[in-house]
Amino acid sequence: MPVTTVPPPARSMTPVETARVAAAARAAAERWRRVPVGERSEAVSEVWRRIYQRRAELYKVVHSETCKPLVEFEAMELCPTDLIVKYFASNARRILEEAPADKSWIMANKRAFVRWLPRGVVGLITPWNFPFLIPFGDSVPALMAGNAVLIKPSEWTTRTMLWTADAVQGTGLLPEGLFSVATGDGSVGRQVLQTSDMVLFTGSTRTGRAVAQEAGGLLKPVVLELGGKHPMIVLRDAAVPRAARAAVWGAFANCGQVCVGIERALVEDEIHDRFVAAVRAEMGRLRQGLGGTGVDVGRLIFPPQFERVMDQLEDARSKGATVIGGEVADADNLMIRPALVLGATLEMKVMREETFGPVLPVMKVSCAEEAVRLANDAPYGLAASIWSADLDRAESLAASVEAGMVGVNDCLSHYAVPSLPFGGVKSSGLGRRHSEEGLRMFCSSQAVLTHEWPASMPDPWWYPYESWKSRLLEWIQRLT
Ligand code: NAD
Repeated sequence: MPVTTVPPPARSMTPVETARVAAAARAAAERWRRVPVGERSEAVSEVWRRIYQRRAELYKVVHSETCKPLVEFEAMELCPTDLIVKYFASNARRILEEAPADKSWIMANKRAFVRWLPRGVVGLITPWNFPFLIPFGDSVPALMAGNAVLIKPSEWTTRTMLWTADAVQGTGLLPEGLFSVATGDGSVGRQVLQTSDMVLFTGSTRTGRAVAQEAGGLLKPVVLELGGKHPMIVLRDAAVPRAARAAVWGAFANCGQVCVGIERALVEDEIHDRFVAAVRAEMGRLRQGLGGTGVDVGRLIFPPQFERVMDQLEDARSKGATVIGGEVADADNLMIRPALVLGATLEMKVMREETFGPVLPVMKVSCAEEAVRLANDAPYGLAASIWSADLDRAESLAASVEAGMVGVNDCLSHYAVPSLPFGGVKSSGLGRRHSEEGLRMFCSSQAVLTHEWPASMPDPWWYPYESWKSRLLEWIQRLT
């Protein structure tokens, strides 16, 4: 029997077990909402510091489920988490501070302000590609905002969150149940949706639609972070060495399993051959293996991805593309060699459907406008990038690209700037994580209006409706 590093999916909790976990989260939320935001932030930051001290153990668990290279785990799971914790710890009090409202002089005798109240239990339904960063990173603002989290990790990467929940509990810094994990498949996800006060869902567009429909029926707030098809627009004046290395890293990092990963390169014809030559040279230096050190590219994590990637490569070949790489290195371990698809066209699945694997299709375009048109000719609108020496032109061109996030001579870095909103348009989702918006979404706003003076008199627009009141109201409107 071949040795496989792909663990089976986790057993699903029964509805009774899930309900028990959800009840513990709800009880903890009741206590936690009364803790001042500064204390909440300090406690969560300290929890993170203690987990970070145990990062070698954490890597072992993440590796057992994903076979990620060590540096990739450090760069793409640990570092962004650290930046998220530090951003929200420094800003949560300011963002959640009660804010006075602008008001007209006719309301001068009243106080008006907005306060941000925790929602209660926040359900985090998460995928398998970043089994630590996504659930833990999203817990940070949810907890600092005063909620409990009920996490439903992917059934394919459950151990990481079970380890994390145990580590969080071990610190003794958070109430029991505040960081709760419900394990299993989509049926457990549905129960998490039903028992939470709000859900942040990260996953495929297909499941996202089902979650949105169910949340609509329940009138439950839901934020959706879904799939993408990152177009990399390489203009003729781009710095080829940086663009080519970015293409290789942006397409193959995490073995291509990154929602904002580069999924298609649209390259101006004048620069195309130089770009492709540099990409091929860079690809030739990649080392692939089952994680650890001295490895750049790992394996696929989710078994059905293997067929999907192979099918897209076969479809591209059958429609006339030249595929360089893309061989099966180790089927039992879901390992496919990074693939460059030259001569890609819009008829190919690899240019239209999310691949989520180590595949970089390249298509020639005649000008920047054509590149933008093709970039927008997709159902997705998560991340995009523009590569050019003219930064002003690239930034202005970006405004025509239908994407929630655009990099100029940059890719896959938005997560590391948590003051930026992260999310997509079109079929890539609804709402944003990170930034001020991504903290306040875990709260409901409460608008408070307090009458101060004169304490005993009615307001003039109350009963009785006399004719002099019409004149008064007209006069007030003229003066406002
Ligand atoms: P998926 O949609 O299959 O599953 C995501 C989660 O939803 C899992 O925990 C799953 O068990 C759960 N689930 C399944 N059916 C459900 C239902 N009916 N109700 C509630 N929960 C349900 O996605 P996946 O294969 O785990 O992840 C890959 C996808 O995630 C890719 O499309 C990728 O682009 C996307 N993704 C997006 C982002 C982002 O921030 N936009 C980040 C990472 C991954």
